[in-house]
Formats: sequence, C-alpha cells, structure tokens
Amino acid sequence: MKLVIASNNKGKLREFSELLLPLGYEVLSQKEAGFELDVVEDGITFEENSAKKARALYELSKTAVLADDSGLEVDALNNAPGVYSARYGGEGLDDKGRTQFLLSNMKDVPDDKRDARFVCVIHFIKENGEEITVRGECKGKIGYEPKGENGFGYDPVFVYGDKTFAEHTAEFKNKVSHRAKALGLLVEKLK
Ligand code: IMP
Repeated sequence: MKLVIASNNKGKLREFSELLLPLGYEVLSQKEAGFELDVVEDGITFEENSAKKARALYELSKTAVLADDSGLEVDALNNAPGVYSARYGGEGLDDKGRTQFLLSNMKDVPDDKRDARFVCVIHFIKENGEEITVRGECKGKIGYEPKGENGFGYDPVFVYGDKTFAEHTAEFKNKVSHRAKALGLLVEKLK
C-alpha cells in the first residue's frame, strides 16, 4: 500500500520508511508521489498543523498520508519556541542563530529551571479517510553552550542524560527521540 509523507526531508522519510515498511506501507515523499503542496503552518498547536498538512495532502492523493509537526518546548520560556521552533528569533536566522537566540534568552535561568522537551505529533490518514493522531515527547534540559556535531536544529543544546543530542549517535537519538516515540505509538495503533 502506498503512503505519502507530507515532507521532502530525507532524514524523516528514512525513519518513517524503516518503521512502516514492515506493516506493508511503501513510503513516498510528496515530491516522489508528484504532489506540490505548500501548506501555511499557522496553527497554534502541533496537532492543528499536522492535521492541516495531512488533510491537504489527502485531498490531493486519496491514498494513505502522514504529516508530522515537531518542535522544542522550554519550561522557563512558557513553552516557547513550541510551534514556532523553525522560525524562532525571526526568518533570517539559521539553526545556529536560533540556538544562540535560545541560549541568550536562557542566560539567567538556573540549572534546576532549564527543563525542556521535544514534541512530535503525527497525523495519519488511512486510505479510507480514517484519521489517527499520536504525540511523542522526549524530556531533557537546555545546556549553556552548543556541544556536538550530529543531528540538526536545537540538538547541540538539548541535553539528554549526560550529553547533548548532537553528541549522541543518530542511532541512539532515533531510539529515544520524540519522533521515534510518536512513530512507535502510531505503529501500535496501526497493527
Ligand atoms: P518541523 O516539524 O520539520 O516543522 O520542525 C520544526 C523545528 O523544530 C525544526 O526546524 C527544529 O528547529 C525543531 N526540531 C524538531 N525536531 C527536532 C530534533 O529532533 N532536533 C532538533 N530540533 C528539532
């Protein structure tokens, strides 16, 4: 069965494909499936954004589709950057700039108040239109300086155990991450 993913991100596609292939899904990016989709992510929750993307893609493809929305929530910043994680600090910043912006907003926050979590919501629509939503979370702390070369986004300042996500291997991160947890829950519901 074909499953179209509302993303062209190679890393995400690989993770989704590895876990969903055993359930009989042939995973394709929206580009591979021949769909041009540019949905404005203007929801104020991860649930709203992932549902909006999935429904727009389902309207076009009428096959099984999957969309995800993810981000970082920091306790000391009232859960910012949240759904705005990809554009935190303004459109002009790259991953490094956003990470520095986050660190500057955290400069007076003490050790015991630096709790944070990565969140991933997956919205899946089956071929018959049935919808499934799952949420995965991964708890950690915000460090004081970027460390490590792996991963992407806020990984260099997200401390999980004794290292940042950018210091852990991809293999390790893919076992404990918010995305892995959400995918695990989805696989349980699809079985
Ligand atoms: P999206 O779900 O692809 O829209 O990602 C939203 C943003 O959240 C990304 O641009 C990153 O800044 C951040 N983010 C989501 N997941 C991760 C992760 O696993 N590591 C680091 N940053 C992440």
